[in-house]
Amino acid sequence: MREVSEGDPIEIYLALDEAQDPDAMRAAAAKKLAVPVEDLPELRVLRRAIDARGKHTRFHVLLGVGPSPSNDEWALPHPREVRSPIRVVIVGSGPAGLFCAYELARHGIASRIIERGKRVQPRRRDIALLNREGLVDADSNYCFGEGGAGTYSDGKLYTRAHKRGSVRDVLEILALHGAPPEILVDARPHIGSNRLPKVVTALRERLEAVGVEFHFESKLARILEEGRGRERRVWGVELADGRSFEADAVVLATGHSARDVFEMLDQMNVTLEPKGFALGVRVEHPQALINRIQYGADAGHAALPSAYYRLAATVEDRGVFSFCMCPGGWIVPATTEAGAQVVNGMSLSKRDSPFANSGIVAAVEPADWEAQGFDGPLGGVRFQQHIERAAYEAGGGGLRAPATMMTDFVASRG
Ligand SMILES: Cc1cc2nc3c(=O)[nH]c(=O)nc-3n(C[C@H](O)[C@H](O)[C@H](O)COP(=O)(O)OP(=O)(O)OC[C@H]3O[C@@H](n4cnc5c(N)ncnc54)[C@H](O)[C@@H]3O)c2cc1C
Repeated sequence: MREVSEGDPIEIYLALDEAQDPDAMRAAAAKKLAVPVEDLPELRVLRRAIDARGKHTRFHVLLGVGPSPSNDEWALPHPREVRSPIRVVIVGSGPAGLFCAYELARHGIASRIIERGKRVQPRRRDIALLNREGLVDADSNYCFGEGGAGTYSDGKLYTRAHKRGSVRDVLEILALHGAPPEILVDARPHIGSNRLPKVVTALRERLEAVGVEFHFESKLARILEEGRGRERRVWGVELADGRSFEADAVVLATGHSARDVFEMLDQMNVTLEPKGFALGVRVEHPQALINRIQYGADAGHAALPSAYYRLAATVEDRGVFSFCMCPGGWIVPATTEAGAQVVNGMSLSKRDSPFANSGIVAAVEPADWEAQGFDGPLGGVRFQQHIERAAYEAGGGGLRAPATMMTDFVASRG
C-alpha cells in the first residue's frame, strides 16, 4: 500500500457525470494510489482541464493533499495604507496600470492614476452608443476608460507567452475582487465581460481605500522633463485640460491602442523600436459545430462548456494562428478612431451565445509594412491605420464590419 505524501500531485481522470461529485473524485484518487478511500487525507483540486482527445471526453484533474487555501490566504500581502506624499503618476487604468498601483500599495507607496476615459458606469453608455449607432468616442470605448481594454475584454486569463511571472498571484488578486474562484484551478480560466466591470470597480475601490488617487477624464498631453543627455529626467505630467502633476516617476501604462501617446514619445525624441505583431480577421461559426467537432458524441453534455479550439500553421515561412478564441461569444467593434474599423471578440461568463469566434492572424514584421511604404518607428501604426480605414470603407461605413464566407476568403474570392 502506498503512503499518501504531501508532495506530488495526484493525477486522475473523471467521466463527465462524475465531474462535480466529490465522492467520485476521492474514489478515483484512492484507486490511483491503491489505498482505501477512508485512508485518504483531505484533498483539493489543483488543476482541472477537459481532455477531449479520446473517444469519450473526460476531465483531467490534479489533486493536492490538504484543504484549499482560504481566501484570507490569497494574494498576500494586501495593499496597505499609503501615507507618503504621492510621487508616482501612472498613466492608464488598464490591467497594467491597476496592477502597478496595487503592487506599489503593497509596499506602502502611494500613486495617482490618470485615465483619459470614464468610470465603468458612464463608459457603459458610450459603449452602448458605439454598438447601436456606430458612434465612436475617442476617449471612451472598448479600449479606453476605467480598467482599459481589460474591462470589456473577455477575461480569458491564459497566455502563450513563456514569460509567466507570478500568474497565481494575479489570479488570486482577481478572485479576491470578485472573479469566480474556479479561475484558480481551471486550465483555461475565464471571467467574462459581464463580471469584469465589477472586478475592476472592486480593485479601484480597494486601492482608493488605501490612498491611491484616481483621476478619470484626465488625458495625458505631455510628459514634463528637464536636462539633457544622461541628465535628462522626467519630473511630471501635463494633462490635456492644462492641469499638471509633479512626480519622481511616471509609469506609462497606456496600452496598445493609444497611438497619440506613441506620437508624443516620437516627438520627444524617445527611442522607439518597431516590433512585429499579428494581423488578420475574425472568423465566426455556430458554437454547436465547434462542440460537435471537439466533443463528438458528448457534445451538449451539461458538464461541458462551449468548446474551444486552437490552430497554428506555418504558411510560406509565416506563422498563422488562431488567437483570442471566444467560445459562445460575440464580435465587437474595438476601434478608438472614427472612420476606422477593427474587431475583437468577447463572451459573457456563461459563454452561451450560439456563436464561437476567433482571430485568425498572421505574424507581420517591420519588413512587411516597409515594403508597402510605411517607414520609421511608427510605420507599423500607420500600416494598422491604413488597414483599419480600408476595412471601414469596405464595410460601407457606420462601423459595419465587412464580412464574407471563410471559404471564399481563403480562396481569395471575398
Ligand atoms: C474586446 C476585447 C477582448 C479581449 N480579450 C482578452 C482576453 O480574453 N484575454 C486577454 O488576455 N486579453 C484580452 N484582450 C486584450 C487585453 O484587454 C489587453 O491586452 C489589456 O487590456 C492590456 O492592458 P494594458 O493595461 O497594457 O492596456 P489597456 O488595457 O489598453 O489600458 C490602457 C489605458 O490607458 C488609458 N490611456 C491611453 N492613453 C492615455 C492618455 N493619453 N492619458 C490617460 N490615459 C490614457 C486608456 O484609456 C486605457 O484605459 C481583449 C481586448 C479587447 C478590446
